[in-house]
Amino acid sequence: MGSSILRQFLEENLAELKSKGLYNVIDPLETANGPIIKVGGKERINLSSNNYLGLATDPRLIEAAVAATRQYGVGAGAVRTINGTLQLHVSLEQKLAHFKQTEAAIAYQSGFNCNMAAISAVMDKQDAILSDELNHASIIDGCRLSKAKIIPYKHSDMDDLRLKAKEAKQSGLYKKIMVITDGVFSMDGDIAKLPEIVQIADEFDLITYVDDAHGSGVLGKGAGTVKHFGLSDKVDFQIGTLSKAIGVVGGYVAGKQELIDWLKVRSRPFLFSTALPPGDVAACLTAIDILAGSTELHDRLWENGTYLKQGLRQLGFDIGQSETPITPCIIGDEKQTQEFSRRLYEEGVYAKAIVFPTVPRGTGRVRNMPTAAHTKEMLDQALAIYEKVGKEMGILA
Ligand SMILES: *Cc1c(COP(=O)(O)O)cnc(C)c1O
Repeated sequence: MGSSILRQFLEENLAELKSKGLYNVIDPLETANGPIIKVGGKERINLSSNNYLGLATDPRLIEAAVAATRQYGVGAGAVRTINGTLQLHVSLEQKLAHFKQTEAAIAYQSGFNCNMAAISAVMDKQDAILSDELNHASIIDGCRLSKAKIIPYKHSDMDDLRLKAKEAKQSGLYKKIMVITDGVFSMDGDIAKLPEIVQIADEFDLITYVDDAHGSGVLGKGAGTVKHFGLSDKVDFQIGTLSKAIGVVGGYVAGKQELIDWLKVRSRPFLFSTALPPGDVAACLTAIDILAGSTELHDRLWENGTYLKQGLRQLGFDIGQSETPITPCIIGDEKQTQEFSRRLYEEGVYAKAIVFPTVPRGTGRVRNMPTAAHTKEMLDQALAIYEKVGKEMGILA
């Protein structure tokens, strides 16, 4: 039974998506999400995960998670403010603050949750948010939730940001104005122009908010994009995720003590959603110790990123303007991009096609995420497959 209106809605909309080729079918993995994955019954080179440093399968993290799970159980048992805060959570927040060189930090259940939590804890309908047009979906949703006026600016266009900041300030309409940006943009691998953003923020008295999901563990010797530019004391909100380079799950805000104090009493996912499980927290603690203790994994990530980029460029592919290990291979036409990705898959490379509306029309790309866990042999094999498919499809001469 159920609602017939709902049934009609779902039938029509699912059929429409499928007819447009926009219905995403998920391929479940048969192994861990390491550099080689078994998917569709076959082993393939994995160039699609955000597991930048290979920590998702690191034995040290696994041991820490198992030990903490034995000691504290699989669940935290409550939200943080009732009695779901273990000493482990406090240790994680202290370690994150130290790693980020801020006074304090607060951990959430995911990076997505962080943006739901932090923006609306501070911004409301009397305020405005200047938002890079390519910001992540969770930033967009977090801004919407706050009910502040959202003013998009052209991607990394500092003239446009300055103009819109000036207009917003001079309008006198808003109590507070925030500028919000990804640290690293995940579809192209370019880095936000933080020195200029901070300068514009100074000029117009803006609150600064950097979501560094793809920069943490990758830039600034692991400490992220803000550290990379030496701006640790100039950015109000530093958001990070524990689910990409850190390899586990969770998110955090690092900043001044008062900001974190406020978020602990006013951010709704902290107040109303159960705390991170102890095993995950212990694994995150170990990951941060590893990052703080050595740049070995970080260096290997960059070495592999550079190697893959050089290889693809030498073959004649357009790899865009990435400044990080994220390596797009831009094909252009949407259908051809999908076909290219499908052929790579058949030949043994798992690299997803990313097309409109995720990226602008006509800039379809296969996005490659090399990690510290890949070997040169794996990357060479991937490059050989790229060459084969590229030539076969007439993309390479
Ligand atoms: C991936 C990502 C998130 C979401 O992080 P999760 O921990 O996976 O929820 C948030 N913001 C940005 C910019 C991201 O790239």
